[in-house]
Amino acid sequence: MTSMISLFYCARLPFPSPVIARVTLEMAVGKEFDYLIPAELDGDVEVGTRVKVPFANRQVLGCVTALIETSPHAGLRPIIKTIGRQSHVTPKILELARWMAEYYCCPPEIALKTVLPEAVRREKEGWREQLFVRALPSLEPDPKLSKRQAEILAAARARKELPLQELLRQTNSTAQTLRRLEDKGLLHIAPQISERDPYARDTILPTQALTLNDAQKHAVEEIARAESPADGAGKSKPVFLLHGVTGSGKTEVYLQAIASALKNGKGAIVLVPEISLTPQTVERFKARFSSGPLQTLVAVLHSHLSTGERHDEWHKIRQGRARIVIGARSAVFAPVDPLGLIIVDEEHEYSYKQEEAPRYHARDVAVVRGRMESAVVVLGSATPSMESFFNVQKGKYRLLELPLRADDKKMPVVRIIDMRQAARREKAAPMFSQELKEAILKRLDRKEQTLLFLNRRGFATSLQCPLCGYVAQCPNCSLALTYHRHAGKLRCHICGHDANAPSVCPEPKCRNPAIRFAGMGTEKVEATLGKLFPRARVQRMDSDTLKRKEDYRRILGDFRTGKIDILVGTQMIAKGLHFPNVTLVGIIYADLGLHMPDFRAGERTFQLLTQVSGRAGRGDVEGEVFVQAFTPFHPAIQYARRHDFTGFYEQEMEFRRQLKYPPSSRIALLLLKGRNEEKVSFSAAHVKQEIQRIAGALPDLTVAGPAPAPLARAETYYRYQIMLRTRHISKLSLLLAAMIKELKLPDDVSLSVDIDPVNLM
Ligand code: ADP
Ligand code: ZN
Repeated sequence: MTSMISLFYCARLPFPSPVIARVTLEMAVGKEFDYLIPAELDGDVEVGTRVKVPFANRQVLGCVTALIETSPHAGLRPIIKTIGRQSHVTPKILELARWMAEYYCCPPEIALKTVLPEAVRREKEGWREQLFVRALPSLEPDPKLSKRQAEILAAARARKELPLQELLRQTNSTAQTLRRLEDKGLLHIAPQISERDPYARDTILPTQALTLNDAQKHAVEEIARAESPADGAGKSKPVFLLHGVTGSGKTEVYLQAIASALKNGKGAIVLVPEISLTPQTVERFKARFSSGPLQTLVAVLHSHLSTGERHDEWHKIRQGRARIVIGARSAVFAPVDPLGLIIVDEEHEYSYKQEEAPRYHARDVAVVRGRMESAVVVLGSATPSMESFFNVQKGKYRLLELPLRADDKKMPVVRIIDMRQAARREKAAPMFSQELKEAILKRLDRKEQTLLFLNRRGFATSLQCPLCGYVAQCPNCSLALTYHRHAGKLRCHICGHDANAPSVCPEPKCRNPAIRFAGMGTEKVEATLGKLFPRARVQRMDSDTLKRKEDYRRILGDFRTGKIDILVGTQMIAKGLHFPNVTLVGIIYADLGLHMPDFRAGERTFQLLTQVSGRAGRGDVEGEVFVQAFTPFHPAIQYARRHDFTGFYEQEMEFRRQLKYPPSSRIALLLLKGRNEEKVSFSAAHVKQEIQRIAGALPDLTVAGPAPAPLARAETYYRYQIMLRTRHISKLSLLLAAMIKELKLPDDVSLSVDIDPVNLM
């Protein structure tokens, strides 16, 4: 790690009793301020405590980053109050926030905000208070009670304590009746914090550790050995890449590795992509640690929780009652202490990258945090990212492999269908090849299930006029509108703009009534299936059909219980689902993502095909996968067919090296945005000049652009990019931060910096 941002001075200082706190305010002022610690707060303020302080003539929130004895400033004002009973940001997390601000080139106050969930940062404490009832021993031997009152008292005595509402419901009585018993000194009623549990309604049956196969056993042993305190306390711990084919039993390895961390007295963080935070996934972790000597609460952090639930889950971790956390991206900041293990499942997933400042990648933050806190890090995937495998090759990460499915099921047979031939035969490209149609029919006859995958929602991709070439465009974005037949609308997938679909070409000189829809989306697949297989029960799953948070659960439930024959979906159905009765997976248009202007297009396609194929044949009947493609010989498709990750890696690396793309170099992507295109382009040219002035410090720096971004306009903003490549990305980040500080841009043009970008559009 490189040097720390000079703004911060950290650590517990040796001074006897510091009276001054240095505070980072939760607003963009770009520096820190010193405040006096008033006598009444003596002992309550430490590094990481959140405080309310005066600033100009306002009161603002901030976080204490250091305690000091003297300040260079005169006339310091006192802290008004502290927020919360326990400091929110532990010194370790503070250090991580600092690293993040520096590496990702973002202001420290934004990094600091990011490490705490919004629900916890609020000034007012978010605990829910509820009235609780407790039965008291009666003073008289035989108090005079009505039959009703005696019943209520008996119900209250049956439990040590219970919520008032629950007692009312159970005994079908009123609060007034209870108050009378309170007057008699028989009940005690008082408010208490009542913790919310988002999974309270689920019944969780404890599970036992499975007997591991040899590969799993080897993996668990290696991880446990690295975790063990005998391996040197305070020493830096290894990062493992667990490469296991789909269905190889990675989760069981995680569970047993966590058990070993708990045995060493340490906690664990498990990161999973938001989309795979299904109740089933959460349950697997809760169930294993719900009883026995290693019993602990498992806290869950994700975006579908209510604010109150998130608040309570976070505090369960901070108080040390939940030693295991499972969550999406931001759970990497969970205050587990001491931390023994961080697991990043599906480490190749792009959703680990946050697309707003700080533009951090949770996998990379996990690796840094592991190093800072001497925790073992395990990155798991069936299709590791090029970056992680490159780190294995360089000896930075250690490889663990699970080459076989855990339950001895065979990998599915993958057949590639050349759609160019199908198109020639039928004069136009059909949605379903003859082969896929027959395979679906066979499944319907045998009462087996089919998954059909197309990574594009909507009905048609665009509305075009074959005469004049008109295409319905979004007025705010440089993108064609997608037709959604169910809604009867043209819709922009960037900004959500809605329009009615015209029935004739809107060009005044054309007015062609034969205007037509081109391309296809999941909605059209669903409609076509309805025509081809009228008796099949078809369900579509994409963000259009998932309107409420229960929808996902309900559709998967229906699929599991056999109420659906064919499930059609976008990448939502590609991940982690385990359905034994799925014997056929069809990929409608495998090349869809191959021709994107993105150097990762091949990698993405390989990953998606491998993951989707992995959904087939997880039961007793062998699975079959049909991949329809217009470029059937593309390496991404061919290596996926053979389930050959290393083959894919080798040839892809060749291409990355030649063109100096990551992981053979690192990227910083600068994006300038504004409503006035000329100003944006002018500002971009100016930024490039400034970059050339720092280029001397980085001999291997290459600068591409400025040029309009592939998505040249979005939500009415014009977008220009400059792409920088170097092998010394930390140094570049520092240079960029310094440059930006001095940079003068027009008020209506903004600049953002994305280090290690995932989205190049
Ligand atoms: P992955 O996450 O690698 O895709 P899972 O962890 O979901 O795989 O495991 C796939 C299936 O194999 C699950 O049903 C799991 O219970 C089962 N499984 C895992 N390990 C074993 C084992 N050692 N013995 C028997 N079954 C196992
Ligand atoms: Zn738009």
